[in-house]
Amino acid sequence: MKLPLSLLLVAGLAGSLAVSPASASEPGHKAEGKVEAKAEAASDSKVEINIKPDLAKGKGERKTVAKAEVKADNKAEDKTEAKPESKTESRAEQGAEPRQPVSMGELRDMIEHKISEVRANRAPAPVVRLQTKGGTKGGASRQVAKSAEAMAKPHAGGHWEYEGPNGPAHWHELNPEFKQCGLGQRQSPIDIRDGIPVELDPIQFEYKLSAFRVIDNGHTVQVNVEPGNRIMVNGRRYELVQFHFHRPSEERLNGRQFDMVVHLVHKDLEGKLAVIAVLIEEGKSHPIVQQVWNNLPLEKNTEQAGLQGIDLQQLLPEDRRYVTYMGSLTTPPCTEGVLWMVMKKPVGVSAQQISIFSRLHPMNARPVQPIGDRLIKDGQ
Ligand SMILES: [Zn+2]
Repeated sequence: MKLPLSLLLVAGLAGSLAVSPASASEPGHKAEGKVEAKAEAASDSKVEINIKPDLAKGKGERKTVAKAEVKADNKAEDKTEAKPESKTESRAEQGAEPRQPVSMGELRDMIEHKISEVRANRAPAPVVRLQTKGGTKGGASRQVAKSAEAMAKPHAGGHWEYEGPNGPAHWHELNPEFKQCGLGQRQSPIDIRDGIPVELDPIQFEYKLSAFRVIDNGHTVQVNVEPGNRIMVNGRRYELVQFHFHRPSEERLNGRQFDMVVHLVHKDLEGKLAVIAVLIEEGKSHPIVQQVWNNLPLEKNTEQAGLQGIDLQQLLPEDRRYVTYMGSLTTPPCTEGVLWMVMKKPVGVSAQQISIFSRLHPMNARPVQPIGDRLIKDGQ
């Protein structure tokens, strides 16, 4: 039987279920929330969904994540856990007339509809479980919303790699935040070819001897550099944040892939990214690369500070002509709007230096992406 239903939101559902991406990405920012749903099938059938966000304010943390747990015997979609056993707290004792409950399916639909509204705005969405306990004799069912670990899960599940089921072809499926990796139209790396030959504004390097810390983050060897290293290009100033390595090179020049590449990642005051790629081919030992390898930390995800400063001018080729195009980060979340400048001349590192990196990361290059209608400028 189809029941007329009106949905009363006793508390602002959208508001209390809203999940800020920031808190979603930080497991520390959790909050308990409570959803009560009351289904009544009296003449004026109505359903109440009661969301009581429990905004704990202890420890001064902003807790905004409401957790919804609504259990039902419906099939579980990826984020929905179903619990077959259910409990109903009858409201008959409150003097209610005998009532027929709204079917759990309908209730679930309503809640999922609401959740999908929230999800449309903010991702990831909270886990929703429909919990019906026992029969429905009193007619009222009650859902207690509890936070599932949904907020943390997309990240835990967002573990990405360079091969296998979590490899580049699947990055966009691993986390809602990674969807650009699959949908983006201006992705990196690319096979750089058919650029238009032009005179490009030379990149002005304002690099200086700098303190640095080396970290193996599981995807690459990265060097975090102290502030003060800048580039000026096209009238914009960017600050070097870090540099890291790929093997083999991610970008290709007219189809040619190099032994390695170093990416120098810069950011301007507005947060815009500019990456300089220096291609690496086997040759003589490179003092800067050696300095980085000498300071490799023994354990992953721990930083080791270099004893002496690093002079990044030495990492650049003498001939600093470059090719430029707009692309993306080459790792999740594959954010676009990145200004790429790829040095046309490679620098040399020794076979032994390459083999040291390959013991840590045998292959950490994303495949080349379609160029599409992007313009490539080739500095002469
Ligand atoms: Zn990179």
